[in-house]
Amino acid sequence: MRGRGGWYGGRPRIEGSMSALDSVQVKNLARGCAFDLAGITTAEPPDEAGYFAEWLAEGYAGEMGYLYGRRAELRADVRTLLPSARSVICLGLLYNTPPPYSTRWSAEDRGWISRYAWGTDYHEVMRARMEELVRRLRALATFEWKICVDTSPVLERAFAQRAGLGWIGRNTCLINQQIGSWIFLGEILTSLELEPDSPAPFRCGVCRACIDACPTQALVPTGKDEGPDYALDSRLCISYWTIELRGPIPEQRREQMGPHVFGCDICQDVCPWNRRAPVTAEPAFVPRAATPPLEALASITEEEFREMFRSSPVRRARYSGFLRNVLVAMGNSGDAKFVPALETLSQRDDPVVREHALWALQRIRLPQAVAS
Ligand code: SF4
Ligand code: SF4
Repeated sequence: MRGRGGWYGGRPRIEGSMSALDSVQVKNLARGCAFDLAGITTAEPPDEAGYFAEWLAEGYAGEMGYLYGRRAELRADVRTLLPSARSVICLGLLYNTPPPYSTRWSAEDRGWISRYAWGTDYHEVMRARMEELVRRLRALATFEWKICVDTSPVLERAFAQRAGLGWIGRNTCLINQQIGSWIFLGEILTSLELEPDSPAPFRCGVCRACIDACPTQALVPTGKDEGPDYALDSRLCISYWTIELRGPIPEQRREQMGPHVFGCDICQDVCPWNRRAPVTAEPAFVPRAATPPLEALASITEEEFREMFRSSPVRRARYSGFLRNVLVAMGNSGDAKFVPALETLSQRDDPVVREHALWALQRIRLPQAVAS
């Protein structure tokens, strides 16, 4: 699941009065800080604030309770986060790496980790660059600011679209015409009055590739004449099950997970705008773990999990959840070589691990019995 709640960066900094800095200077400085995309928009709430409220009301957020309540109110208007905010500097960092792509890959004894989690946790990389950008801006002007990276309650894709970085595709990702959708986003809310960029036009056209490719039909039509024509029902999404959901994965969904042990890239892998996406030069995003062997993952201890994914987004799934995902992938492989490991894991104290190991054993031994 992309987009989470929570702050990343402490309280707003208060500095003296505003002074003039123009948008071109800001974007040039952003490029100097090695951002691939930079654009400016106002701090006014985007139209998507209304769509987001409807999305929550439909129940599409599943059990992601942190998206509701006070956090939803904060998300509706960034000026609740920084009352002096006049502009939002939207930034993008490419993380695309060379193949494999999930739709052109198969190895029954390995698990798939989502592309964004192959390297070092991007929050650290983005934040360091954004702090450097603020430092450079402060050398030229005084202003108030707040850095937001993913975990802040900000409708970041909506601001990025309005700042001209790209459009929100039917797969719900932000897509840039030149570099595709493998992009990390961040925002600097600022009291600076900056000339806004033009919003990026919607360029999906009549394409439906992501909708057709989604193995769980998680991209659902909104049925509305205005606003987005498709929405993500997280309750049906592999990314949600493998990253956000705590406890057992609904049994009738497990088969659809295939080899995914953390996240899912299918609706981006099939997007034509990613066919010629350039590859990042950022060393932090060089893959450390992409398709690890399932047997090795199933045998790691909690301590080894913490060490292995110390600075990786994978740690969000937590040990029990990650092991649960690995067990489902083992069951889906149908490979009898996993039986001894599964028998051992079926003796674990953790009831979620135990139950998923038993399910995987049954799926390998009696595939027809557990097929939905
Ligand atoms: S393709 Fe994967 S990530 Fe995309 S909506 Fe479907 S299940 Fe979710
Ligand atoms: S696959 Fe097609 S419909 Fe889906 S996001 Fe990409 S261009 Fe849009």
